[in-house]
Amino acid sequence: MKALQYRTIGSPPEVVDIPTPEPGPGQILLKVTAAGVCHSDIAVMSMSAERLPFPLPLTLGHEGAGIVAGLGDGVTGVTVGDAVVVYGPWGCGVCPACASGRENYCPHARTLGIHPPGLGSPGAMAEYLVVDDVRHLVPIGDLDPVAAVPLTDAGLTPYHAIRRALPKLVPGSTAVVIGTGGLGHLAIQLLRNLTPARIVALDVSEDKLQLARSVGAHEALLSDENAATRVRELTGGLGARAVLDFVGIDITGRMAVAMAGLDSDVQLVGLGGGAIPVGFAQVPYGMSVTAPYWGSRTELADVIALAQADVLSVRTETYSLDEAPLAYERLHDGKISGRAVILP
Ligand code: NAD
Ligand code: ZN
Repeated sequence: MKALQYRTIGSPPEVVDIPTPEPGPGQILLKVTAAGVCHSDIAVMSMSAERLPFPLPLTLGHEGAGIVAGLGDGVTGVTVGDAVVVYGPWGCGVCPACASGRENYCPHARTLGIHPPGLGSPGAMAEYLVVDDVRHLVPIGDLDPVAAVPLTDAGLTPYHAIRRALPKLVPGSTAVVIGTGGLGHLAIQLLRNLTPARIVALDVSEDKLQLARSVGAHEALLSDENAATRVRELTGGLGARAVLDFVGIDITGRMAVAMAGLDSDVQLVGLGGGAIPVGFAQVPYGMSVTAPYWGSRTELADVIALAQADVLSVRTETYSLDEAPLAYERLHDGKISGRAVILP
């Protein structure tokens, strides 16, 4: 089968021919219908050999949707032909975190050598994908797989982050979204649906700000040296109760603190490599900084239910598997509007 693999440190991903996998006992074979292109893959492909936490070659794609095409021995709960999306942050399955669906915080996954598809295990940018356990599948019924596949990360990660900030996002509060790409454009819509907060979106280009406004941001501002002052003005000097940073560089971290209010939540989601230093009286009283990772199984079911209720408008650009390296190039250059989706 055809697959997109990251094969050599520092080189672009390549379309290659590899053997079609067979599902072992307990596993499920999916015919992939769609796979999302995430900026985290670019972060992974920028790592040195020493930092990369898994061996190459790696079939990319940690956002996957497919049709059940084969069942290993003992699999129950899905049947051939079912349309599903894949929950990506696989855990051990038995610890308290996993038992409550929060496999994204399984403390044993790494030591057991369990890696998410596309981030250590073979991913969804291939004609077929093997999923280790039926608990990692969420049925999507007749949802369009192209619109559904970004929900597995670009939807789930902001949903998880926003849920942590919900107590702060009371009527009259403001939430700031820094970076309105794949994750950010869904964060805006989730904030609109889950909270009464006013939403201010920041990005570096006018077309991204246009997208932010069209999906529900109340204000969309250029992310420049005046942005923090503008947010303070818009909030009557109070600052934002939640700042979601989908870039994660030092500059956006400093900006997040400068626009955060008292008793606020700053969430560092982007893998830009930046840090947010915290010191008493050096940040607003009561401000917390968290670095949330992906989301839980139940939260993915919630996000799929929101899509089924028709309240999310996922912007996508589609590419064939052969065009997938181009999609990564365009993402790197900030040229994708919403999420790029590969159709293997
Ligand atoms: P994306 O490229 O689609 O979106 C990033 C957006 O940020 C773009 O619109 C870009 O124009 C904008 N941007 C760049 N510099 C900016 C700046 N200085 N100020 C404001 N906006 C700026 O990327 P994505 O796939 O949505 O991912 C966003 C980030 O989240 C990435 O760093 C990714 O690795 C990370 N991520 C983290 C998790 C997690 O679990 N923590 C999960 C998925 C993705
Ligand atoms: Zn991702």
